[in-house]
Amino acid sequence: MRKISKLGVLTSGGDAPGMNPCIRSVVRTAIYNGLQVVGIRRGYQGLIEDDMYDMNTRSVSNILDLGGTILKTARCLPFRTDEGMETAYQNLKKHEIDAIVVIGGDGTFTGALRFSQKYPDIAVLGVPGTIDNDLYGSTYTLGFDTATNTVIEAIDKIRDTADAHDRLFFIEVMGRDSGAIALRAGISCGAEAILLPEKETAIENLIENLKGGQYNKKSSSIVIVAEGDKHGGAYDIAKIVQKEVKFYDVKVTILGHLQRGGSPSAFDRILGSRLGYAAVNALIAGKSQMMVGLEANHIKITSLEEALNQHDFKLEEDLLQMAEILSI
Ligand code: ATP
Repeated sequence: MRKISKLGVLTSGGDAPGMNPCIRSVVRTAIYNGLQVVGIRRGYQGLIEDDMYDMNTRSVSNILDLGGTILKTARCLPFRTDEGMETAYQNLKKHEIDAIVVIGGDGTFTGALRFSQKYPDIAVLGVPGTIDNDLYGSTYTLGFDTATNTVIEAIDKIRDTADAHDRLFFIEVMGRDSGAIALRAGISCGAEAILLPEKETAIENLIENLKGGQYNKKSSSIVIVAEGDKHGGAYDIAKIVQKEVKFYDVKVTILGHLQRGGSPSAFDRILGSRLGYAAVNALIAGKSQMMVGLEANHIKITSLEEALNQHDFKLEEDLLQMAEILSI
């Protein structure tokens, strides 16, 4: 069985609240099991530039409540090339690192899988860290819960002003390919409509729905638009709707990067702790090219290949239908 003695940990792609609790868990679980740990800065960039440092139990003190990632993150183009990967490999060998935990989204896992297929002597374990909640093999990804709560907090505030002025707000939230944040936030905030990348909403239906709100004497309306919606962004949709819906003053808010920040929720702290712990234990058990996830509240280990190739996260039509009914 593969035996490891020195472990590297990195965060890559978009940052997500919960990465820090996960780093803490990886570091302390590894040290508890007698492994040495190296922190790799700015994802694959740090591997290529040899930007790494030894970590101990105190390196991760007081970080549970921090958003972002103490290891920093980056989108690293050179890692997509053979030369970049070779440099990363040589740096890992130089430091005698024989396993890495990569915390990130599908891009990060694609890079990790390619790398470990090329250099199978380095064990690789992935932890799903992305606010998009779009990875197969884990019901929830790190950061999704916190990001959704951040969105809810912002929309609650917007609802106050929308209500005071009889306004219709189009609020754009993150989600280029996944409407997970939009759907959850829409249910939680009682949005009048939720527009998602997975399902095209006819503009005529949206307008009818908003006019219905007027007949029902609604004092405000909120439409949540995931950034990947097929009609374009919230501004594009607002422009079309404003022509037809005269009784409301139409406004647009793009929540943008504030959705990534903030202290991780209890859920993300616990998820990060559990997944980091499970990742290190999986490496100690000799596993590689795998991802740890949580399904039905149990740790599930999925091959990176399967996690990347399975796209069976379907739109939860039942939740969307419920949201529509509850917003009449
Ligand atoms: P998020 O879901 O938050 O966007 P992500 O992990 O999908 O996170 P990406 O920027 O897509 O973020 O990927 C992170 C990094 O993974 C890239 O910057 C690159 O270094 C590496 N990567 C992505 N795709 C590949 C690939 N095909 N080959 C090698 N490396 C890759």
